[in-house]
This record gives sequence, structure tokens and C-alpha cells, in this order.
Amino acid sequence: MAVSQERGAGLAVRDVVVRYGQRRGHAGTTAVDGVSLDVAAGEVLALLGPSGCGKSSLLRAVAGLEPVAAGSVAFDGADLAGVPVHRRGFGLLFQEGQLFPHRDVAGNVAYGLADRPRAERAERVSELLALVGLTGFGGRPVAELSGGEKQRVALARALAPRPRLLLLDEPLSALDRGLRERLAVEIRAVLHATGTTAVFVTHDHDEAFTVADRVAVMSAGRLAQVAAPEALWRAPATREVAEFLGYQTFLPHADGLLAVGPAGLRVVDGGSGGASGGASVGGEVRHGVVVATTFRRGRTEVTVDADLGAGEERLVALTDGSVPAADDKVGLVLDPRGCAVVPG
Ligand code: ADP
Repeated sequence: MAVSQERGAGLAVRDVVVRYGQRRGHAGTTAVDGVSLDVAAGEVLALLGPSGCGKSSLLRAVAGLEPVAAGSVAFDGADLAGVPVHRRGFGLLFQEGQLFPHRDVAGNVAYGLADRPRAERAERVSELLALVGLTGFGGRPVAELSGGEKQRVALARALAPRPRLLLLDEPLSALDRGLRERLAVEIRAVLHATGTTAVFVTHDHDEAFTVADRVAVMSAGRLAQVAAPEALWRAPATREVAEFLGYQTFLPHADGLLAVGPAGLRVVDGGSGGASGGASVGGEVRHGVVVATTFRRGRTEVTVDADLGAGEERLVALTDGSVPAADDKVGLVLDPRGCAVVPG
């Protein structure tokens, strides 16, 4: 096939289809159903979507681990059809870093550097250990590392040969929440510091927003929307994308639907509808009945049963003022900063 027309540096995925289990008389599963996307040199793209939507299949097709039933994958303008995994110059990082248990940390990081002179190898290993915050860990057996340290070593190992593209498949999913959040920030810093072009698969939107320059939302094998994190949050292309991002209810609106986000609903003190919610909170006051309150991430979330215009629903509102008790009737106002308009 001809070299792709877009000769720009980076990854070009065109109309890619990935199928499983196709035999005579069996249609099989279409895991990826005609996806096209570009990742520019130095860009970090997150592939985000619910479990089973085809993220890993797409990533594996880019890596060359899964055959492409239709479409093409090209890098720097060169089509990769027929190029085996190890000749693509890509790095891979999976949920469980799959370190070599019989090698120490330095031995793992040096894995992809076997063809380099010993001194250069040693220098590169210390450089990478410093980058992932593990200076001095070179001689440790990998069995003595924590889960987070193991993933840092796996990241260092994947980056050591300077891959032209790094493919990460849920690399933080096996870690607990706090660590996952910290490591997501670190991974972003490391990818940017090294100018690494990367595709990061995750089902966690917070993680995608933390790590990526752009986020590609997948649904049932197709791309639903590709945008920078803020743009995606501010203007979800469809109700489905908005639901996946955590918008909790959808109200009739002149331009379609008003999606009310987790920070889009506020409790106003007293329940009488006083204008005590602050200058940026405006509009009609509605009422709800408190089900429970939870203190999370430094703020109080109030679960309420309320009808905002889409029927009675269980919703979450934030409160800056006094914390109501269960069964209290409270006033609720929409906070436009936490809402978005979605095409109907
Ligand atoms: P995700 O990464 O978004 O969770 P996957 O790419 O793993 O999604 O899976 C997409 C679809 O393909 C799912 O329906 C899944 O069951 C199916 N699938 C994935 N891998 C295989 C396989 N090796 N054989 C058959 N079906 C598969």
C-alpha cells in the first residue's frame, strides 16, 4: 500500500478494524470498528472508555500484537503492515509490569540495552532510575519492591531504549487509589521530560485527564470524541460521553440537554431559597430531601432525592455551608461551572 498521505511525524491510525473468533459460519466479535486517530510526535493521548469497549484491542493492533482485519497503522508516514512487534520501535507497559523476577532492578531496566557498551548501559540505567524516583534501587531484587515501585521500574525499562512510541495499557489499575493518582502525575512528568510520544489506555477519566494532552473516548469499538481534557469536560459531544465522564443528570435545555456534573449542583443554606450560595450560583431554587452526607476529598457531598426536571432522581450536591441531616428538606441550585450543554 502507498505511504500515508499525512507524512507528519507520529502515529496515524486509519479505519482500523480488529475482530476475534471469526471462523466459517461465525461472525466473531468486532472489538474495534473502524477507528482513525493521530498522535503527534511528543503527544500523550489517552484512550478512555468502559471495560470491553475495545481500548486494549486497538492498542494491541498498534503494537502489532493483534492483526488488523481492515485499515492501516503507520508511524512517521511508513505503513507498519507486516512489521513484527519487535521491529516497530515501540515500548510496551502493561497493568502488571511483568518484571523479570531473577534480575535485580538495574538488570530489568537494562533489558532493552543489551547491544550498548557496558558504560553507556550503566549510565542510562542510573539516568532512568533517577527519572522515576528510584535512585539507588539498582541492586534491589524486584521481589522486594512495592507495587508502585515495580511499575516505576517497568516504566524505566520501557523507556530505556528510547522507544519512538510508548504504549501503556492500564499501567496503574492494579494499584490503590492514592498511589494511582500520584503515579499518574509522575508518569505525565516523565513522558513530557523525555518528549515521549505515548498512547495510554485507561477506564478512569481522572487518570486520563491527569496524564494526557488529548483524550480519545471509545464506545463499543468506535471513537465517540477526541479532545483536550478541558474541552472534553466542558463540551461532551454526546450524552453517552457525558455520562461516562460522570455527569449525573440531563435536563431539558434550549440547545439540547443541560448535563449536570458532580460539581453542578449546590445545596443552599436553610432550604428557604436564600441567595446565600454565592454570586456565581444563580437561577431557580429547587428542593430535595437529604438521603445522606459524605465527607470526601475535603468537601461535603450531599446525596439528595430531587426532581430537577427529569423526574425524581437520586443526585449528589455539594455544600459549602452547614451540613444538613438525613431527611432534611434542602434548597438546591445549579452551578453553571459544573454543567455543560450536550446536543439533544
Ligand atoms: P477494553 O480494553 O476496552 O476493556 P478489549 O479490547 O479488551 O476492551 O475488548 C473488546 C472486546 O473484544 C470485548 O468484547 C472482549 O470481550 C473482546 N475480546 C478481547 N480480547 C479477545 C480475545 N482474545 N478473544 C475474543 N474476544 C476478545
